[in-house]
Amino acid sequence: MTQLNPHYLKLQGSYLFSTIAQRVRAYKEAHPGQEVISLGIGDVSQPLVPAVVQALEKATREMGQAETFRGYGPEQGYEFLRQAIARYDYQARHIDISPDEIFVSDGAKSDVANFQELFAQESVVALQDPVYPVYLDTNVMAGRSGGFASGRFEKILYLPCTQEHGFAPQVPHAHADLIYLCSPNNPTGAALTKAQLQAWVDYALEEKSIILFDSAYEAYITDPALPHSIYEIPGAEKVAVEFRSFSKTAGFTGTRCAYTVVPKALQVYDPDGGAHALNALWLRRQTTKFNGVPYLVQRGAEAVYTPQGQAQIKQVIALYQQNAQVILNAVAQAGMSAFGGQNAPYIWLKTPAGVSSWEFFDTLLNRAQVVGTPGVGFGQCGEGFLRLTAFNTPQLTRQAAARITQLCR
Ligand SMILES: *Cc1c(COP(=O)(O)O)cnc(C)c1O
Repeated sequence: MTQLNPHYLKLQGSYLFSTIAQRVRAYKEAHPGQEVISLGIGDVSQPLVPAVVQALEKATREMGQAETFRGYGPEQGYEFLRQAIARYDYQARHIDISPDEIFVSDGAKSDVANFQELFAQESVVALQDPVYPVYLDTNVMAGRSGGFASGRFEKILYLPCTQEHGFAPQVPHAHADLIYLCSPNNPTGAALTKAQLQAWVDYALEEKSIILFDSAYEAYITDPALPHSIYEIPGAEKVAVEFRSFSKTAGFTGTRCAYTVVPKALQVYDPDGGAHALNALWLRRQTTKFNGVPYLVQRGAEAVYTPQGQAQIKQVIALYQQNAQVILNAVAQAGMSAFGGQNAPYIWLKTPAGVSSWEFFDTLLNRAQVVGTPGVGFGQCGEGFLRLTAFNTPQLTRQAAARITQLCR
């Protein structure tokens, strides 16, 4: 009899998006002819920019010619892309990251999910509440949690992100080995300041912990004082891994390209206290389990760094930022309060007093025909909030905003 990995049975059904889909379907069936607009999607609506499409076409033609055809590439990613990333995303911002500290991958989701396998099973995991569910679920699968009891997993160190502290996680008094930080945060839209990140880096240096820093939304930061990379913080190269993606930055959600930075100075320890470079271990892992991102996709990603590519993606990001502003204005006019939206494509809407996330989801659907995502679906501390995204088209976003404005007035 084949035994299942018992930890998979601890996972909580991902009922969030299926419940949403079910309620939307039921509403549409009961109200045919009414148009429902989704501000719940975490996927982009705008197409790939011309510079990327041209690079993809050129690379596709190369693949059809014997002289320029490419088979298996380097697992870590082609040098041309790692050079471009190091130069434009780091060195241009005075951050000392070299191409051999960069690992190109097919997604920040897979990297952030897989990275935990380099660490001991007993490692204490700390994560924000509310947050992107991948960090928690992958550690549950790996057996780093206890059972699920009254809404939370035992043995996981939850870091509440509440309105009181501007939705920033507070450095704990307890020890954690692996700390997942998502900034700008999905779902709250809150971005950590340099001082807040410095406190985490200091904690990690002191505790010999590792920070897994997900900055998938760094391109949405508008406040010039906010850090885009954790390596802007002194000492971070000794304690932090950074995950970035072309998904939300350049519309690669369906094209698939991301990268992870593992500095050479970053070390982990064996049971005898011997130090090992994490960079070499991640390379070993990737060369064993991963065969790289398609050549043409990497050429497409490289084109993001050309002057045309930069100008074009900035326009698309500005369009989503404008959507966020439209939603924020509508929410304010409706007399409700909302957070985020300034440095992230997410608006964190506070439900009216005494109204739960799910109750407000229903109100929005029934009275405005707008779909959001109940905040409680991202963690206990998300109760009393609803996430709205800026990723729909400008036209539908304006329509949804007009309906929200009328909601409470
Ligand atoms: C969308 C998103 C990503 C990007 O994932 P990809 O696999 O690169 O598409 C990573 N982290 C968070 C928090 C996200 O919301």
